[in-house]
Amino acid sequence: MASGSYRNGGVKVASKVDRLPSSAGYTTPKPSTKSRLSAAAAPSRRGVSVAPSSSKAGGDSGVPGRVRVAVRLRPRNAEEMIADADFADCVELLPELKRLKLRKNNWDSETYEFDEVLTEFASQKRVYEVVAKPVVESVLEGYNGTVMAYGQTGTGKTFTLGRLGEEDTAARGIMVRAMEDILADTSPEIDSVSVSYLQLYMESIQDLLIPANDNINIVEDPKTGDVSLPGATNVEIRDQKSFMELLRVGEAHRFAANTKLNTESSRSHAILIVHVKRSMKGRIDVDHSFHGENSMATNLVSSFRPPIVRKSKLVVVDLAGSERIDKSGSEGHTLEEAKSINLSLSALGKCINALAENSPHVPVRDSKLTRLLRDSFGGSARTSLVITIGPSPRHRGETSSTIMFGQRNERLKFQQNYLDSAKKLEEKWKANVDKARTEHQNLCLDNARNVEAPSTSTSDDVGEVRQFQNEKHLRQSTEDEINKLKSEVSRWKQLEEAGNAEILKLHKMLDSEVGQKQKLEEEIAILKSQLLQLSFHANETKPSLDRGVPGKLSTGFDSLVSQPRHSQLRDSANGPKASIAKLFEQVGLHKILSLLESEDLDVRVHAVKVVANLAAEETNQELIMAQGGIGLLSVTAADAEDPQTLRMVAGAIANLCGNDKLQKRLSREGGIKALLGMVRCGHPDVLAQVARGIANFAKCESRASTQGNKAGVSLLIEDGTLPWIVKNANHEASPIRRHIELALCHLAQHEINVKDMITEGALWELVRISRNCSREDIRLLAHRTLMSSPIFQSELRRLHIEF
Ligand code: ADP
Ligand code: MG
Repeated sequence: MASGSYRNGGVKVASKVDRLPSSAGYTTPKPSTKSRLSAAAAPSRRGVSVAPSSSKAGGDSGVPGRVRVAVRLRPRNAEEMIADADFADCVELLPELKRLKLRKNNWDSETYEFDEVLTEFASQKRVYEVVAKPVVESVLEGYNGTVMAYGQTGTGKTFTLGRLGEEDTAARGIMVRAMEDILADTSPEIDSVSVSYLQLYMESIQDLLIPANDNINIVEDPKTGDVSLPGATNVEIRDQKSFMELLRVGEAHRFAANTKLNTESSRSHAILIVHVKRSMKGRIDVDHSFHGENSMATNLVSSFRPPIVRKSKLVVVDLAGSERIDKSGSEGHTLEEAKSINLSLSALGKCINALAENSPHVPVRDSKLTRLLRDSFGGSARTSLVITIGPSPRHRGETSSTIMFGQRNERLKFQQNYLDSAKKLEEKWKANVDKARTEHQNLCLDNARNVEAPSTSTSDDVGEVRQFQNEKHLRQSTEDEINKLKSEVSRWKQLEEAGNAEILKLHKMLDSEVGQKQKLEEEIAILKSQLLQLSFHANETKPSLDRGVPGKLSTGFDSLVSQPRHSQLRDSANGPKASIAKLFEQVGLHKILSLLESEDLDVRVHAVKVVANLAAEETNQELIMAQGGIGLLSVTAADAEDPQTLRMVAGAIANLCGNDKLQKRLSREGGIKALLGMVRCGHPDVLAQVARGIANFAKCESRASTQGNKAGVSLLIEDGTLPWIVKNANHEASPIRRHIELALCHLAQHEINVKDMITEGALWELVRISRNCSREDIRLLAHRTLMSSPIFQSELRRLHIEF
């Protein structure tokens, strides 16, 4: 199929034109005013024809030399609407991408590329414009062209190509529209449009206009390569109406012929050939300016040549059904039939592929169909193939093989590469997933062994998977932790409620305790102030404490009680006693005594002071004793360290010792021993009070003995005071010395004590007193006592002491 050789006539002109660059501005013969073809589109297609390799596949409509392939999807028909209602279409169209996805299953699909993808919504008009119009335009420009429909029976080949659209002009098919365009662009006066309508069945060509014309031969001009069918009827078309009539006749004959042959139209190829002869006379003059410096010569030549006629043809082929024909003949067709159909279609496919690959060998001779089409596709001819498919998933297999027909080898290669790389990616992904899984398992094992994960991991994917797993674990453990915390919180809330009740209870208890404490504190404060007052009074009543004790004792007491004196109290002579009595009544002795045990030293001191003062009153003394006062005083005497407290305790006991009625009880309850214990302090004021107490006791005891109320040795001697008395009888401090001298005198008045007194060395002290005592009354008393005691006298005699 050499370039330019398919044009019937005008070869020279064509070859000239073909050599011209597109940019040279070859002017297409001006279309007539009724032309609906785009004039602007013509030069570009011309240019492409000069340099076909420079054109972009699918980018230019009507690229010569290769077959443009469009795919058209038929909408679901009524039967499919019902039968496939629950299923998705087996194809998915991506018209913008010019791609078609054929579903393998729910998750897998194959993608194919086309020059044009026409959805089920594509109108007949659009299909014509996309598929056929460029070819028709090319034919009108003098090039041969072919439009073919290939697809499974029932997918719309005849609908696309042969629909007459008499009832609905929008439904007109490619044949009708092509003729309309051709007729519109040609002039019946100077141009000629004629039509042949044929059927190719089992490698036999039959005339559909005159069916009797059978077995029509294909004649090829060995010089030009033009293909012609001399035996076929060629009907001149003057108008669209006659063409429509012709189509109707042809279709009727096709049906009848097939019935006669006991076959179906789907097993034959229907071929419409439109011959266009255009006279270039008148038109060629326009081209003169185009020929530049050769225009003169051309003018000369043209004026002597017959008018140039440009011949071209448009072949429209409604191919046999692409469904695979069962070679077994079980469906009523013969093996020969199957062979021939498969032959012609596969031969056509081979030719299309050879053209697409710019193969030097296009196997056109393999079938009648390809031989017939030889001058109408490839080379400068433009060929369009529309692949018709149905949506039904039930015909997926047939649809798939139909699509493969439309896919040129280069596409198939691309498709294969695409599938291969997809497969490789899938394998890689699987390998990565496996690897990650293994790594993860290792990681788990490592974690279980508490061993560091090996640091040799190299794959990023594995790292990501591992990170993902880690995050998953982290998330899981965090969720667990949150749940744990939540239950902990609810548990704590319950506890808190219980705790709150408990706290409330404790608060109440605390409040009442605080109240009690406050009350006690207030009471203590009152007592303190009362004690303070009593202390004042005690100071005031100091002389009465010292009653019968002359000299320095009052001074010593004074020095220890350093409370400020209240002028009012001092001014009234009877006030203090009355006040103490009054306070005593108010507070109660028991409370005062209990304060002797207070932790607070200050309180203790004041309590002792008050008790000491109370003990000065004879009326209180028995009361104090009755309330166990001596016991408390004894405890204080034993515990206290400070001379002030000891002095007061000793003073209090000394006062009690002056009460005749309390003698025995005092001794029995440890009063004497407590008094004696306090001498450990050594402070002269304390010693003075001790001495006073002993003297008081001795005086009362003596009186009782005299009155016959006391028998037996002195309790002072029994309580072991004699050694201390003898030892301190000549004490340098006169208050102490005088109390002791008195005590010795009282003791010595009773014969029962004398023996012990002699044993302890008291005789010598008595002798000294009787001789040296500065106080005459005591000196005389001592003397009289010594003289009146027979035991003393005999002892003195025994000792040869002159008395
Ligand atoms: P084929 O020639 O491929 O066997 P047909 O052209 O006879 O298929 O179409 C089969 C049926 O489908 C017809 O009834 C036709 O009208 C209908 N059909 C085909 N294509 C379309 C389409 N694009 N839109 C609507 N109906 C269509
Ligand atoms: Mg059909």
